[in-house]
Amino acid sequence: MQTADAVVVGGGPAGSTCAWKLKDAGLDVLVLDRATFPRSKLCAGWVTPEALADLELEPGDYPLSFMTFDRLQVHWRMFTTRLRAPQHSIRRYEFDDFLLRRSAARVMQHNVRSITRENGDYIIDDEIRCKYLVGAGGTSCPVYRTLFRSQLPRDGALQIATYEQEFAYDWQDPACHLWFFDGGLPGYAWYVPKANGYINVGLGGMAVQLTQGERHLRDHWSLFVAKLKKLGLVSYSDYKPKGYSYYLRDRVDTVSEKNAFIVGDAVGLATRDMGEGIGPAVKSGLLAADAIVNDADYQLTGIEQFSGSALVTQRFRAPLRWLQRFRERRATTSSTLPASRSQ
Ligand SMILES: Cc1cc2nc3c(=O)[nH]c(=O)nc-3n(C[C@H](O)[C@H](O)[C@H](O)COP(=O)(O)OP(=O)(O)OC[C@H]3O[C@@H](n4cnc5c(N)ncnc54)[C@H](O)[C@@H]3O)c2cc1C
Repeated sequence: MQTADAVVVGGGPAGSTCAWKLKDAGLDVLVLDRATFPRSKLCAGWVTPEALADLELEPGDYPLSFMTFDRLQVHWRMFTTRLRAPQHSIRRYEFDDFLLRRSAARVMQHNVRSITRENGDYIIDDEIRCKYLVGAGGTSCPVYRTLFRSQLPRDGALQIATYEQEFAYDWQDPACHLWFFDGGLPGYAWYVPKANGYINVGLGGMAVQLTQGERHLRDHWSLFVAKLKKLGLVSYSDYKPKGYSYYLRDRVDTVSEKNAFIVGDAVGLATRDMGEGIGPAVKSGLLAADAIVNDADYQLTGIEQFSGSALVTQRFRAPLRWLQRFRERRATTSSTLPASRSQ
C-alpha cells in the first residue's frame, strides 16, 4: 500500500493550491487525478487580479498564454457599458498544469472510487493510505460524495448549466465581452480572447430556470454564435460545444470532518452573480492547507460570495485610495497642529 501524509483528490486550482502549501510546509503530498495533465477543463479562463495575488503570481511571471483586459464590455439589451476593472485571461489547459507542476507534489493518475477509514487514516481504493484527505475533485468529487453529501446536500436552485468552446482563432477584437440575459437566457454569454491566437466563447445559466424556460441551452448557443457572426466578432463553422454543470455558493457550514476537507467546486463556491470559481477554489485551497498545517479550524472566511463587489471595488480602487490618503494626510496634519486648532 502507498502512503502519504496528505492525499489531494483533484489537481485543479483548488487541489494544486492546497498541495502547494502543504508541500511547502514539509508534508509528503500525493495528488490523485483521474485525468492526465495537461488536461482540458471547460472554463472561460477569466482570472481576477485577486486570484493571481493569492497564487503569488505576478502577471509577468506567468510564462504561458496570458492577456489583460483593462475594461470589461458588459452588454444588456441595447446598452453597453465599459467597466474599468482590469481582469486577465489564461487557458486552463496550460494554467492548471503549470500550477500542479509548481506545487512540487507527487502526482498520480488515478480515478478515486472508494474511501474508507481505518485506525484514524483514510484508505483510498484499498491502495493508498493517508492521514489527511482533501477533496478537490470538482462537482463530482468522490470525497464530497462519500463523506460530506449527507451533511451538505446540494441545492438544485444553485446549479448552473454551461456550454462552451475554446479553439484556435485569429480574433480581431481584444476586448472581453459579456452579454447578460440575451434572448431570455437566465445568465450570461461571453467572448474571451486568449493570447497566442485562442478564443473561448460560451454561455451559462441557472439550470432550473433553463428547464422551465422556452429555450434549451443548445438553442441559446445557436442564437449566440449567430450573434457573434453578425457582430463580426467570430465567424467559425466548426463548433462542437461541450456542456458542464457546477454549483454556486450556498450557505455552507460543514467543509471539514475529522481530517477530511473539501475545497473549490467540491463545496460549490463559485460566486452567486458571475459563477467565478477559480478565485474561490484557490482561496479555499489555501485555507484548508493552513488548517492542516497549523491544526486550525477550516472556515470559508474571506471567500467572497459575489464577484460584483470586487469588480466595483476595483473600479473605484484608485479614487478610494486617493480619498484614504487624503484622509490620512488630514489626520496627520491635524494631530500635529496645536491643540486649540486641532479640536
Ligand atoms: C463553462 C465554464 C466556464 C467557467 N468560466 C470561469 C471563469 O471564466 N472564471 C472563473 O473563475 N471560473 C469559471 N468557471 C468555474 C471554474 O472553472 C471552477 O469553479 C473551477 O475550475 C473550480 O476548480 P476546482 O479545482 O475546484 O475544480 P476543477 O477545476 O473542476 O478540478 C477538479 C479535478 O478533479 C478531478 N477529479 C474529478 N473526479 C475525480 C476522481 N473521482 N478521481 C480523481 N480525480 C478526480 C478532475 O479530473 C479535475 O482535474 C467556469 C466553469 C465552467 C463550467
